[in-house]
Amino acid sequence: MKTMSIKLRVTLWYGLLMLLVVVVVFVFLFALSGSLARNETRQRLLRMVEYNAGNLMFDDGILIIDDGYIAFSNGIYTLVYAEDGALLAGRLPPGVNIDVSFEDSEMRPFIFDGVTYHVYDRQIVYETNPTLWVRGVQQIDGTEGAGALLYAVLFSLILLACLSIGIGYLITRHAFRPIEDIRRAADDINVGRDLSQRISIGELIALGEGHDELHRLAKTFNRMLARLEDSFEFEKQFISDASHELRTPTAVILAQCDDALAQPADADNLREALEVVHRQAEKLSRLNAQLLAFTRLERSIETAQMEQLDLSELLETLCAEMQLLYPGLQTDIHPGITVNADRDLLIRLIVNLLQNAFQHGKPGGHCWLTLRQEGTTALLVIKDDGIGIAPEHLTKIWNRFYQVNPARSNGEHNGAGLGLAMCRQIAALHGGEITAVSELGQGSEFHSSMPAF
Ligand code: ADP
Repeated sequence: MKTMSIKLRVTLWYGLLMLLVVVVVFVFLFALSGSLARNETRQRLLRMVEYNAGNLMFDDGILIIDDGYIAFSNGIYTLVYAEDGALLAGRLPPGVNIDVSFEDSEMRPFIFDGVTYHVYDRQIVYETNPTLWVRGVQQIDGTEGAGALLYAVLFSLILLACLSIGIGYLITRHAFRPIEDIRRAADDINVGRDLSQRISIGELIALGEGHDELHRLAKTFNRMLARLEDSFEFEKQFISDASHELRTPTAVILAQCDDALAQPADADNLREALEVVHRQAEKLSRLNAQLLAFTRLERSIETAQMEQLDLSELLETLCAEMQLLYPGLQTDIHPGITVNADRDLLIRLIVNLLQNAFQHGKPGGHCWLTLRQEGTTALLVIKDDGIGIAPEHLTKIWNRFYQVNPARSNGEHNGAGLGLAMCRQIAALHGGEITAVSELGQGSEFHSSMPAF
């Protein structure tokens, strides 16, 4: 049964059910027609006995049997007995001996030689003449008369069952066609390793209704493929970006080592080379830490714990701590603004923006953080009076590993160009967005919005 196709299994169950229906209907009809036929036979026997009884009379004490008397007709034997049991007229079926006492107006079965007979007696009492018994005898045949009809019904039922099994199979096959299409599409995707392929829902609609289980399955399947394709593309791009970023410091370290090894040993040269190697190794280490943070962020985005939290309160606490590090931070936080968010992710977004404001700012620069609610949107603005970003860079700063001036990373700034990409992902997860406006030499303003209660 396990290796059988669903189509065949459905048809088999369906066929079995049809057969069961045929058997039940036939047994029911058989029983019904048998009992009807027996009833009809009894009625005929009764009528025949009554009729024949009406054809008996006495004339001067002599029994006269009228010409209308029918001794045998239609399988019914009618016999006339005297009160003492002497047979006066009629005969029993050949070779049969009905040895049963008389009972007035009683229909009884009697078995002789394995054959069942109906016996019906009628007593006729005369005022002045002797009492007579008229007995009717008829062999019982349950299906009598109904037999041919029953077999015709049985034949039609079987034919009907076969027909409905056949038609049922065709309908099942038609209904299962989209599954075959889905399987084929999945197979094509698998063989071609092409995640951009989709199951053509248009073709499925041409096959039938567009909102049934199979169409929903195809849509879910397509959604799953799109998600897989996205994350696959993302991984691919990320690995390629990361290896690109790792290539420069590694190449510089190798070149410095080669250069130092090729020159005669000189303390100053060696020191210079070591300083470069140290700087590049630091860069690698920072990059490594950022990559780790980024992959961790990916994971925490997948397992984000959304809760209703007081954003104003969170910012007050956070800014109080940050002010110890960056005294130039000033705040204007509107109280009581609540959002549905993951606390840790939100902290990471805010800290990132604040660190950027100071790390890309002027020495002794300032930063202003404001939070207010506009309708159902919480709006966070972080503004600085730093170096600003030129228009040609403004759209690119959101790309992974993008840095306007990578040379700065060699100083106390410890970024790798992943911070803003992370911020954008976090904002999107919370149903919000993040944008930037900036003027070179004047400062930048980052706006982050998200739904508020
Ligand atoms: P990084 O780790 O380099 O800070 P980010 O993704 O956070 O990476 O930022 C990308 C780039 O955008 C930075 O390298 C910097 O050039 C620019 N940038 C970000 N924030 C600011 C800011 N407040 N002022 C000036 N430039 C900024």
